[in-house]
Amino acid sequence: MIKPTTTLAWVGVLFALATPAQALKVFACEPEWGALTKELAGEQATVYVATNAMQDPHQVQAKPSLIAAVRNADLLVCTGAELEVGWLPILLRQSGNPVVQTGKPGQFNAADYVRKLDLPARLDRADGDIHAEGNPHIQTDPRNIAAVAQALGKRLAEVDPSHASQYQTRLADFNTRWTQAMQRWGQAAAPLKGTAIIVQHKGFPYLENWLGLKQIASLEPKPGIEPSSAHLSNVLSQLQRQPAKMVIRAAYNDGRGSQWLSERAHIPVAVMPFTVGGSERAKDLFGLFDDTVDQLLKAAK
Ligand SMILES: [Zn+2]
Repeated sequence: MIKPTTTLAWVGVLFALATPAQALKVFACEPEWGALTKELAGEQATVYVATNAMQDPHQVQAKPSLIAAVRNADLLVCTGAELEVGWLPILLRQSGNPVVQTGKPGQFNAADYVRKLDLPARLDRADGDIHAEGNPHIQTDPRNIAAVAQALGKRLAEVDPSHASQYQTRLADFNTRWTQAMQRWGQAAAPLKGTAIIVQHKGFPYLENWLGLKQIASLEPKPGIEPSSAHLSNVLSQLQRQPAKMVIRAAYNDGRGSQWLSERAHIPVAVMPFTVGGSERAKDLFGLFDDTVDQLLKAAK
């Protein structure tokens, strides 16, 4: 008779056979990098996405489930540029996983591969949630996604060399589709050039740079500080001298401040998906930019 422990061991072996043992285990800090990894790795990777589009990526709780996921990961794909400074170091420390620590090939930071905007002239925490390495919200410009894709494709091949040719093929395919899509978005969004906007959080400098939008004010008195009524009133009077077409906020932002301003200034609020999962249409990276451009065009009418 087979002892129960032996039976359990066999169940374990069967499970191991059922899931491809060689699949790379990827921990993505934000949905956009989870989506990009899926584009570039396909079946070769299982992707755990740590946060969703309705969460503020600056403020994430270092839960035990996240620590366990980092412990099991072969590769971390995160933004970097201090976006995750409040939570990722804790996960790295608690996980004890040597392969994904900072500086190891198992840790990939997307922001290392793009030119950063909003580099602070001075560093003073009294100025709010200032990012020393420049603005980390790089995913709102599809040209940044293209640059990160090149680097991530290479990194996947480096940490999983036995599937290097598959990663290369998928990257080339993604490049083709992405280049076509960028042309389409660029043409559709051309009328937006020069449009004056108000933002809730300084989360859109890359989007502004891509489409030529002009940010004239921010609803947060300091980055990461919720809009106060005094500051909102200032923005409202600023609008009388310097009109704007719309208020832009991310799906995860509290909508009350932008709603308040919208009603008084009689301009629409454009809610940006900001990342994959941030709206019905933003099911993948392509949907993310389809919807972003459409929401802006709708608000600009
Ligand atoms: Zn930010």
